[in-house]
Amino acid sequence: MPAPSLRPGSGGFPPSSKMAAAVSVTGPITWAPPPMRSRELERRLSLPGPRPEAATALVNPSLSDHGNGLGRGARGSGGSGGSLVAGRGGGAAAAAVALALAPALSAMQRGSSERELAARWEAEAVAVTKAQPAAEQVRVDSGAAGEPERKTPEEQPKDPAPAQPRAAEEGDARVVPRPPPTLPPAKPQAARARGLCPHGKPRSKGRGGRRSSGRAADEYHSQRPVTVDSSKARTSLDALKISIRQLKWKEFPFGRRLPCDIYWHGVSFHDNDIFSGQVNKFPGMTEMVRKITLSRAVRIMQNLFPEEYNFYPRSWILPDEFQLFVAQVRMVKDGDPSWKPTFIVKPDGGCQGDGIYLIKDPSDIRLAGTLQSRPAVVQEYICKPLLIDKLKFDIRLYVLLKSLDPLEIYIAKDGLSRFCTEPYQEPNPKNLHHIFMHLTNYSLNIHSGNFVHSDSTSTGSKRTFSSILCRLSSKGVDIKKVWSDIISLVIKTVIALTPELKVFYQSDIPAGRPGPTCFQILGFDILLMKNLKPILLEVNANPSMRIEHEQELSPGVFENVPSLVDEEVKVAVIRDTLRLMDPLKKKRENHFPDIYTDRKHRFPPVSDRMPSSQLPVVRSQQLTKPLAAKEDPSDSEPASASDGNTDPEAHLPSICLKQVFPKYAKQFNYLRLVDRMANLFIRFLGIKGTMKLGPTGFRTFISYFRNCIPGHKRKRYQD
Ligand code: ADP
Repeated sequence: MPAPSLRPGSGGFPPSSKMAAAVSVTGPITWAPPPMRSRELERRLSLPGPRPEAATALVNPSLSDHGNGLGRGARGSGGSGGSLVAGRGGGAAAAAVALALAPALSAMQRGSSERELAARWEAEAVAVTKAQPAAEQVRVDSGAAGEPERKTPEEQPKDPAPAQPRAAEEGDARVVPRPPPTLPPAKPQAARARGLCPHGKPRSKGRGGRRSSGRAADEYHSQRPVTVDSSKARTSLDALKISIRQLKWKEFPFGRRLPCDIYWHGVSFHDNDIFSGQVNKFPGMTEMVRKITLSRAVRIMQNLFPEEYNFYPRSWILPDEFQLFVAQVRMVKDGDPSWKPTFIVKPDGGCQGDGIYLIKDPSDIRLAGTLQSRPAVVQEYICKPLLIDKLKFDIRLYVLLKSLDPLEIYIAKDGLSRFCTEPYQEPNPKNLHHIFMHLTNYSLNIHSGNFVHSDSTSTGSKRTFSSILCRLSSKGVDIKKVWSDIISLVIKTVIALTPELKVFYQSDIPAGRPGPTCFQILGFDILLMKNLKPILLEVNANPSMRIEHEQELSPGVFENVPSLVDEEVKVAVIRDTLRLMDPLKKKRENHFPDIYTDRKHRFPPVSDRMPSSQLPVVRSQQLTKPLAAKEDPSDSEPASASDGNTDPEAHLPSICLKQVFPKYAKQFNYLRLVDRMANLFIRFLGIKGTMKLGPTGFRTFISYFRNCIPGHKRKRYQD
């Protein structure tokens, strides 16, 4: 194929009519309103091969605006402006879900009534609970486990063994009684007598329900340090250690026989077998954010809500959709010979830029051997990124998924900006291979001679995102709008991920089974286009939490040196995630209401309207202070109410994580259509029964549902 000459300014799929033509391919199953289309093109594009699901990839004309500004589809402005209209659609769609589900459910349940399944499940759950070793049941009661698991009343063991005191030290098998220092020791069998469930929670909150010994237990919990198992933290260990010290919590670096309040895993939910407490990973998250799965999940939402999901580049899954990719690109080129697109090929499950390359034509895809063995996503390349100092950069934002059900999302007020190390030019055949120009990965650019390590957070090849916003703000950019678009992108992406994630969650931790609660820090990689529109590049389930980098001291001699910018951002994210997940916070607040009220006055909540450049950003000075301090042996001791330092957070800056959901739930709830289907799937079909359909079954279920709704109804939901 001759090397195409590039017209300056070209990039992205041409909008409107050409893409409308592309849409026609998907006529029979599209969720988008039927666009104006040419019958001729439709005829030419009756492609052999591609699956119907694949064909929906290009249904959305508004998705073609990555080179030319915001969406301009039938529903006017995107974001919250469109939400009112689509909100009604969401309601109608929910009704349709129920209608469409009826046959699906009966077909899939194969005669097994829900009650039967539930009864079978309950019997199983009781058997499991009974089979729990007595020690495991009582150690929760002993006060070592912190936040109790939430179990249904039927599952509470009827006759818990006597309480076993906590081991004195981490990993210590000997049982050393250690009553709370400032309190009269509780009687060993007090748990039942004082109306506590075996996990230390009061059975009843009714008036007069608590006795004095219950208060004593509360007092103990309000003063003991939160325990964190860091034995599987891997590369996040350094930042985690600093965070735990700052919080004056108790770290168990080699694990602990007794349960900990929080387990910090470096890779996945399954790093450890845990049955209680909280763990910093969701089951299934790693699978969900792989490039192919993410593209599929976003595509489902793009089909339902094209306007709202136009922040993700048009993508095709290889090898399955190769023919479709070729045909659609050819079709658009036929319509506009001056169109010279660029695509980026990214191996599924790859990271750090591994195996990524740019192409100008589908025929350039390196099919030989690799694609079959290593599936990939090919994606529209965003040709016009925002440049700073003539360099392309991306943004790594940290997002805390605090809870899946109910959905709770937080965004860190500061993130990182990673810079390329070669001045940017729009892609042309000569520069396609210049990775330092096109790929912003730190892991690649660190090897460039131009990489600049800096002690400042606002210069060098890695900077804080707040420093970028400051700079943009000084040039008159409306950074409030940039933030609000980013928040919207994050919420919508999480909404796309949650349905299947819930199914994963239920497969691993079915309701009623003992298991931990989960939370997770996600790394969102976002590119700002020249017009400041944020584009989602990918989501990382295990964003790097390293706070040091390698420096070459002399040729071939490397040393790990602290990276201030990483430390500033990442320690704050981990520490404040822990603060938000603190299982004893409620108890402390109840116990020392005056202190917490006082604290609220000292740290007034940050106004939502405040531009992010003015948001309090934790300075490295504050962070490194506790680093320098030697570990205080009293860290493991509960703070005394009388030592005047009962508020463990008094010395900390305000929390750097901002809640965005449910805070903005009203604007986004209408998008949670597939989520409602996931709830129905889990309730009626999924994992409770013997069928164990799980995530694969859910994907089939979703596609079944999509085919259930006639075209005219699908259109109505979007009007
Ligand atoms: P990886 O997981 O290997 O880092 P990414 O999807 O993050 O893969 O892509 C690597 C880099 O390639 C990104 O940091 C970004 O600089 C660039 N990139 C990825 N996708 C696009 C795109 N669609 N348009 C422009 N640049 C992109």
